[in-house]
Amino acid sequence: MLVKGVVFYLESDLPFEAKSLIEDFRLAVNNAIRAGLQARVTSTNALNKLAYKDSRREHPRMYAQHLVSAFEVAGSVLNNHRKRIRKGAICRTPYVNRLMMKAENQAYKLDRKSGVIDLPIRAGCHVELKLVVSQYHRKYLDDMTLSLGSLTVLPDRVMVAFRKDAPKPFVPESVLSLDTNERSLDGVFVEGDVAKAIKAGFPEVAIIQQRHHDRRRRLQKKKAHDRRTSRNLCRREGTREHHRIDYRLHQVANSVLKFAEERRSAIVLEDLKGMRPKRSKELNRRLSIWPRRKLHQIIEYKAHWKGIPVVKVNPRNSSRTCPICGRIQYSRMGAEFVCECGWRLEGHINASMNLLQTAISKRMAGGLRFNPGAFQHDVMMILYNPVTGARSEPNGTSGIVGVT
Ligand SMILES: [Zn+2]
Repeated sequence: MLVKGVVFYLESDLPFEAKSLIEDFRLAVNNAIRAGLQARVTSTNALNKLAYKDSRREHPRMYAQHLVSAFEVAGSVLNNHRKRIRKGAICRTPYVNRLMMKAENQAYKLDRKSGVIDLPIRAGCHVELKLVVSQYHRKYLDDMTLSLGSLTVLPDRVMVAFRKDAPKPFVPESVLSLDTNERSLDGVFVEGDVAKAIKAGFPEVAIIQQRHHDRRRRLQKKKAHDRRTSRNLCRREGTREHHRIDYRLHQVANSVLKFAEERRSAIVLEDLKGMRPKRSKELNRRLSIWPRRKLHQIIEYKAHWKGIPVVKVNPRNSSRTCPICGRIQYSRMGAEFVCECGWRLEGHINASMNLLQTAISKRMAGGLRFNPGAFQHDVMMILYNPVTGARSEPNGTSGIVGVT
């Protein structure tokens, strides 16, 4: 089962009853967390047994389903807490600060035509939440193959979970093999006897990382006397950085998937698992791997949702092997891969060819073949152009930097 959370804003402020409901919900969650910590239990069932009576007394009129879902939220908080302790991390007693409530799909009604949510507060009291519905939202509301999952209510918006069974991946008619780099996806697209170079650049991601890193370092210096403030400010910087980068990665992933869907391509990616920059601290940061991992996560998830086959292969030696004669180079290359046999090609694209050949040799690309000799050196297809593809930051600071 695949789940996709879709955020909706509300046409008007949250009604008073709903506001007090999410406050009560948070109280109930925190009470259950405390009870669970004392009794050393984390399962929803155990929490239910343990805390139901007390919670009932404190929130005598709350809809029973909401109480149960409060135990569920508490259970997952406790589980995460226990995991962190097991890892040996120092952590505070867990506490939910954020105002929120979660309702399972039996505990609310959504009219998919009008976009109105009927949320029960207590016996005889319901509130209606009118959602702002855009074209994007219509896509989910009108698709009846999607069923409704849980609803999360926040003070200014709600999130509805849409669910569907994973579609069976199609039989590929072409392959898109991508090598993931710091500033771009580079690859080769093979359809029939033709192979072309492919590029989807995201140079701003590295620039954003650098800018936020510098900012964090400055903050740490400036607030060196106050570690708590410094930590909080840095955390806020980190969240902003993630949002900015996430947005761009989604754009890149969307253009890759749109292409793969139109051409019925299987997507070949390198397996980044276990890949860790090894050298100095400075270099570790510069080559921070998380945007690339995140990009893979997004691509895989969206491909899964659309039924596009994805193949992951071990990238061992992919940047050092010649796809024509199979020689492995032992020295590090420049931007271009050059082999004794006369083969030369841009390094990243060469790597993606090797990924593709690994996928084919392991019969993971659905019986498709590839002849590196058919590669058209003079053609480069641009899947994503960051200058036209990215929009400026909503807060006015431009996110578009004139680099390609
Ligand atoms: Zn060679």
